[in-house]
Amino acid sequence: MTDALATPPAMLAQAKTRMRELAAAYALAVPGRDAHSLMVGLPDVKLLFMPMGDRDGAYDPEHRVIMINSSVRPERQRFTLAHEISHALLLGDDDLLSDLHDAFEGDRLEQVIETLCNTGAAAILIPADLMQDMLQRFGPTGRALGELSRRADVSASTALYTLAENTAEPVIYAVCAVTRAEREDGTPAASGGPKELTVRASSAAPGVKYSLRPGTPIPAGHPVETALDTRLPITEESFVPFRSGRRMPALVDAFPDRYRVMASFQLRPDRVSPAEAEGGTDP
Ligand SMILES: [Zn+2]
Repeated sequence: MTDALATPPAMLAQAKTRMRELAAAYALAVPGRDAHSLMVGLPDVKLLFMPMGDRDGAYDPEHRVIMINSSVRPERQRFTLAHEISHALLLGDDDLLSDLHDAFEGDRLEQVIETLCNTGAAAILIPADLMQDMLQRFGPTGRALGELSRRADVSASTALYTLAENTAEPVIYAVCAVTRAEREDGTPAASGGPKELTVRASSAAPGVKYSLRPGTPIPAGHPVETALDTRLPITEESFVPFRSGRRMPALVDAFPDRYRVMASFQLRPDRVSPAEAEGGTDP
């Protein structure tokens, strides 16, 4: 090890950037983003679909085989294929691989590799120009999230993380849906129990220190609820409904998509509540 070695968090950020470059270059060189086209970049690797229990897939570098669980939904199979291709790309990059082995070990190394391959999968499946186009056309909004997910044919959560990573404004994105309410003790709800609108997945732009935990309820009358009830997109000044009960002012864009709502919360750092402004100087 040299003393110039990056610290682990900085190393992970660098590794993600490198992984994105490898994945984007790979995606540019293949004829399309369906399973067959995606394999064109790895001509000596065989692709097998088979039932794999609770595993999504695997890459066997020794026998040059990618296996995909055929019993999960097609959208997930496609993501898994891009994830396994990323494993192959990572194994083909000796510099990146040796940096990772220098910075991490054991379970943490395995975790970092899985995270990187998810980063790679998103970069393969979501074309950078499409993402920029969505941000330009719709801004950092719930609508941009819904359109990106639909047009790139990836799950809302995959679109969510990529969009957040590429957003310059202070925005929290969330996918919200109606689920059975959890019991007070956190155990799963009985079927037939009450349902509530909650955050299913959330991701914030770099530099935003707040996050919305999955399971956070959306209060009655919030624009996210209105969008779900009316099936109409809505943009209005409202708030981020943190689980603690704190309501932070935000410009909310709520975009209904079947049984879900894609939401964005653009924070207003210049508009703090009177309690928070205490001690501050008046303009
Ligand atoms: Zn993996």
